[in-house]
Amino acid sequence: MDLTTLERLPLWIDGRAVAAHTSRYGEVTNPATGEVIRHVPLGDADDVDAAVAAAAAALPAWRAAPSLRRARMLMRFRDLMETHKKELAKLVSQEHGKTLTDAEGSITRGIEVIEFATGIPHLLKGEFSENVGTEVDSFSLRQPVGVCAGITPFNFPAMVPMWMFPVAIACGNTFILKPSERVPTMSLRMAELLKEAGLPDGVFNVVPGDKVAVDAILAHPGIKAVSFVGSTPIAKYIYETGARNGKRVQALGGAKNHAVVLPDADLAFATEALIGAAYGSAGERCMAVSAVVAVGDAGDRLCERLADRARAVALGPGDAPGSDMGPVITCAARDRIVGLIDRGVDEGAMLVVDGRKPSVPGHESGFFVGTTLFDHVTPQMTIYREEIFGPVLVILRAESLDAAIDLVNANPYANGAALFTRSGYAARRFQEHVEVGMIGINVPIPVPMAFYSFGGWRGSLFGDLHVHGMDGVRFYTRGKAVTSRWPNDGSAAPGFHMPTMG
Ligand code: NAD
Repeated sequence: MDLTTLERLPLWIDGRAVAAHTSRYGEVTNPATGEVIRHVPLGDADDVDAAVAAAAAALPAWRAAPSLRRARMLMRFRDLMETHKKELAKLVSQEHGKTLTDAEGSITRGIEVIEFATGIPHLLKGEFSENVGTEVDSFSLRQPVGVCAGITPFNFPAMVPMWMFPVAIACGNTFILKPSERVPTMSLRMAELLKEAGLPDGVFNVVPGDKVAVDAILAHPGIKAVSFVGSTPIAKYIYETGARNGKRVQALGGAKNHAVVLPDADLAFATEALIGAAYGSAGERCMAVSAVVAVGDAGDRLCERLADRARAVALGPGDAPGSDMGPVITCAARDRIVGLIDRGVDEGAMLVVDGRKPSVPGHESGFFVGTTLFDHVTPQMTIYREEIFGPVLVILRAESLDAAIDLVNANPYANGAALFTRSGYAARRFQEHVEVGMIGINVPIPVPMAFYSFGGWRGSLFGDLHVHGMDGVRFYTRGKAVTSRWPNDGSAAPGFHMPTMG
C-alpha cells in the first residue's frame, strides 16, 4: 500500500493495516513547507489492547522458533531495507525535514542494528559447567521477556525504532512500536517490509499516538518491557511509571553534548567536525554537539573559524540538492528555539551568528531557523542549561583541561562528550575522568556501532542497560540457570542441610 497517498494513516496490528478504534487524529506536517500532509491516529487504550492481544497470541510460536529462523527473517528484512533505502530516506526527510543524505545515513545506522541482530544464534549462547558437583552439571540460558514496547522520538523516524525492535524480536519477543506522532509513516512502512520478509503476523505491531497511547502501554499488564527514547522529563516519567507497574524499563533522555577543544588541537579539522556535529540535522540529534568548551587561548581563533563556516551552511528543504541543513520539526519548535536565542542575548551572551530570521525563498511557511553561534556563554545562562535541540552552538571558555572536565561533569545531561587534541595524555585523562556514556577523541559524534551499546549517564538515561549491542540482548532477555543431575543407581537420601556441591 502506498502509505504516502493516504489522508488518514492506519495502525498495524496482527500483520495488517487496520483502522484505529480512536476517533482522535493528529496532523503530520512537512516542516519544509508547513503543509499538513496526512493525519495520524492517536491510539487509545483499546488500540493498545488490540496490539497486545495480537503480540501475546504470536509469542508462543515466535519464541519457540529456532533462533536461526528468526535470524534469517532479519537477513531478508535487512535486504529489503537496503533495496528501499532511497524511498525510505524520502519519507524520513518529508516528515522530519532532514536532508536526504542525512536521512539515508540514519537508515544505514539502523540497518547495522539489524545486521547485529542476525547474529542472534551466537549472541544467545549460554554457559555450561560440567561436574559442578559429582555428576551434577550447570548451565545458563537467556529467554525472551515476552511482549515488549518501544516509544520513540521524532528526530530519528527509522534509526531509533531500529535500535530496539530488531534485537527484541531476534531474542524471541513480540513487539509494539509507538512512534512519534510527528513522524509515524516510517514505522508503518517498516511493518510492511517485515511482513514481506516473512515475519509471522502479530510479532510486530505499530500503534501511533501521544500520551494516551503511552499511558495505556505503561499500564498494560501484558507488556513486560518498555524501551523509550525522548526528552529527559518524559524519560523519567516513563521509567518511574513503568517500574511502578512492574515492567523492565530503559529510558534514554535528552542531552547537552560538549566538545572540549584544547589549544594544541588541529583547529581546521576541529572546526569542520564541529560544524557538522552542531548543525547537521538542524541540531536535532541527541548526539549533536551543542556546547564547545574552548581551553586556554583556543577560544578566539576557534570562534572566528566557526563563525565563518556557520555563515556558509546552506539552509533549505531537505530534498533540495545542495541543502546542508533543513528546517526544524514544528512551528512550535522554531518559536521555542528563537525564544531561547532571544534569552541568550538578554542574559548577556555574545551573539556571533544570528539565525533568527533566515531566508529560504519559496519556503516562507517552512519551519526554518538559521545556524546560530554564541560566544562567551557561562554555565548560568539558559542557553547553556537547557537542551535547545536546534541549530544553536554555544562557546564557553575554560582555563585548563581539568576545568573543562569539571564543567562537563557538572552538567545534568551526560550523553556524549568529545575532545579535540593532539595529546595522547590529555585524551587518556579525558576518557578516564569524563562522566558521560559516550566519548569521542577527535570524533565529534561518537555514536557507537551496533555491536557496542548506545546510551548516556545521569539525566540522559533512566535504567541500567543501554540500547543495542550486548546490553540490548540483556535487556530483552531474562537469565535462567539450570542445575541438573541424572542419577542411575536408585540411591536417594533426604537432604535437610543447605545444598552444597563440594
Ligand atoms: P518527547 O519526549 O517529546 O517524545 C518522545 C516520545 O514520548 C514520543 O513518542 C511522544 O509521543 C511521547 N510523549 C511526549 N510527551 C509525552 C507525555 N507527556 N507523556 C507520555 N509520552 C509522551 O521527545 P521528542 O521531542 O520526540 O524528541 C526529542 C528529544 O529526544 C530530545 O530531548 C532528544 O535529546 C531526545 N533524544 C534522545 C536520544 C538518546 O539516545 N538519548 C535519541 C534521540 C532523541
